Amino acid sequence: MDIRFQVTDGMHCASCVRRFEQALEGVPGVTDVQVDLAARRARIATADGGPSIPDLTARLATAGFTVTSEAVTVRANPWPALIALALAIVTFLLPHPLALAVAALALIGPGFPILRSGLRWGAPGMDALIVLGGAAAFAAGEPHATAVTVALTLVGRLIEARARAATGAAVERLASRIPATAVRVTAAGDETVPVARISLGERVRLRPGDAVPVDGTVAEGALSLDEALLTGESLPVERAAGMPVAAGTRVVDGTAVITATGVGATTAVARIADLVQRAAVAKPTVQRLVDRIAAWFVPAVALIALGTWAGWYVHSGDPWRGLLPAAAVLVIACPCALGLATPTALVAAVGRLARHGIYVLTPRALEAAAGIDTVAFDKTGTLTTGQFRIERIAAEDPHRVLRLAAAVEQGSEHPLALAIRCAWLEKELAPSRGIVQDVSRFTHRAGGGAGAEVDGGAVLVGSADFMRANGIEPREEPTLGGTMVHVALNGTDLGVIALTDAEREEAVTAVAALAPRRVVLITGDREVAARAVATRLGIDEAIARCRPEQKLEQIQRLRAGGARVAFVGDGINDAPALAGADLGIAIGSGTDVARASADAVLAGGDLGGVPRLLDTARACRRVIVQNLLLASGYNLVALPFAAAGLVHPGLAAGAMAVSSLLVVGNSLRLR
Ligand code: ADP
Ligand code: MG
Repeated sequence: MDIRFQVTDGMHCASCVRRFEQALEGVPGVTDVQVDLAARRARIATADGGPSIPDLTARLATAGFTVTSEAVTVRANPWPALIALALAIVTFLLPHPLALAVAALALIGPGFPILRSGLRWGAPGMDALIVLGGAAAFAAGEPHATAVTVALTLVGRLIEARARAATGAAVERLASRIPATAVRVTAAGDETVPVARISLGERVRLRPGDAVPVDGTVAEGALSLDEALLTGESLPVERAAGMPVAAGTRVVDGTAVITATGVGATTAVARIADLVQRAAVAKPTVQRLVDRIAAWFVPAVALIALGTWAGWYVHSGDPWRGLLPAAAVLVIACPCALGLATPTALVAAVGRLARHGIYVLTPRALEAAAGIDTVAFDKTGTLTTGQFRIERIAAEDPHRVLRLAAAVEQGSEHPLALAIRCAWLEKELAPSRGIVQDVSRFTHRAGGGAGAEVDGGAVLVGSADFMRANGIEPREEPTLGGTMVHVALNGTDLGVIALTDAEREEAVTAVAALAPRRVVLITGDREVAARAVATRLGIDEAIARCRPEQKLEQIQRLRAGGARVAFVGDGINDAPALAGADLGIAIGSGTDVARASADAVLAGGDLGGVPRLLDTARACRRVIVQNLLLASGYNLVALPFAAAGLVHPGLAAGAMAVSSLLVVGNSLRLR
């Protein structure tokens, strides 16, 4: 089972994440724990018979975490921070004993959550440093330091929480677009029911302005749909009978009845939101390192603080003298900002991409994308539109060749098959004649062609290589550019259908925007067609006549040469290459995005998404490195000054808040 929790209390920084994970480590039946610090969310995978939600809630409560199993939005409450701030100011206005009392009030009042999690025995977190620091300052008779530390810690967290809510919003938007109710069409008439009660195969009515509640196929009527949420494409698309519609899109115009093909968690939008969420909480290599360091951090800092105090004691002979510097060390070392460095950047980047219909689906994708130096493109349907037009049929009996080809292609989803079927239907206007009916024993060879028995004869349709592989001598091809489809009957090549499709409009600019990365075209088509497209798009390298497994070999060859390779394909027969590349990018549209075996999907079908994805990933990596430096740099620089007694603990708390802010602000730049 997959259990999701919203952590409403107790989760502040990287070491809290460790503590959360530790609380569930070794619990029988818990197979995986993933925590998203930025969104304060956790997903816990449990095996059959594993712990229940109440079990887990109770266990987490003893570790100091309050969790709810629904997706509630935690609205940051500003009051504790404001009250603490007011109390801190008051300490400066009052005589010393009263100021001490007010400082104590700040710590146990608004500062109570920090106090509680800081004093938790067993697994000390960052809050322990703040509590120790505040207490040490208090003991040193410095009420201002205590109160200011508490107040600024709370203010820092408040602002972080606000910023976090903003970064996570884009991903959340995706899942929240499915409406709560749907209009079910029954024999007795229409009824409005909660979406959860719609079953597969039931019929749902859509009217203008409706958000589509389920995935489905149009049964009657026609729609104009705004798919921007899913694809980033703002122009409405038309959907007539038989066409798919996706949950989460919006009806701009028209009415229709659709048959549900996906509800709830099985809708494309839910699956994408789920995958994106997982990708956004993934820990990149660098974050795993940070986590390991954070686990050692608290004891190490406590030791340094102790050393500071002892040093001052030895130096001055006064046991009180070293308390304030020790307090400053404790507060300044708190690397709260460190825990924010990676998650805020990842969430901001993933959210920004999602708004453009670019979905990062696997945890490794963004990290891999940042390092890509070579981009390999599939040709048909990827660099080109895949909308083929027949230029010529070179045959003694073109009509017969087209008829046989169309008959076989009924069994294929390839763009060529679609074009050939359409061409035949256009010629054969009489619907009764349609496509030949007597077709059986359909076979298909990805990247080669297809075959079937038509009217009792063995027909093969495909490339010249495909013919040769089947022992048929291919006919001479017409001297035209474009793609050639041979049609053979009972071992004899009867003719060649020459087809062309156009490059995608944005292909030239997209390829140019990839510079200085190396760009390669890998296709199953013949050399002439490959070279023509490569030349027009400004691509230097074109590798032709590759079957799907050979595309994979080419990818492996490039990787073996030290390149880090992204493969961009339409996902129809490119699954091996998509999976074998460092980064597989599927280009698709609408509902088929979730089924692609890729690391990322360009749902809008816009090739500009490729450079956008790679560039955003690179910017994200840069921001993460900057964040880590911002977050840890000041601690390291300030620590010796704090130990030397040159930094007031209140100032240390201020610096801590500022560094958290800088980190969050830096991440927000990605949006
Ligand atoms: P690409 O690598 O450019 O996407 P494919 O691997 O899909 O191309 O196909 C390679 C070649 O195989 C095509 O150019 C065509 O000659 C042939 N072919 C593949 N599938 C079919 C089919 N269903 N009908 C006819 N020819 C096909
Ligand atoms: Mg293709």
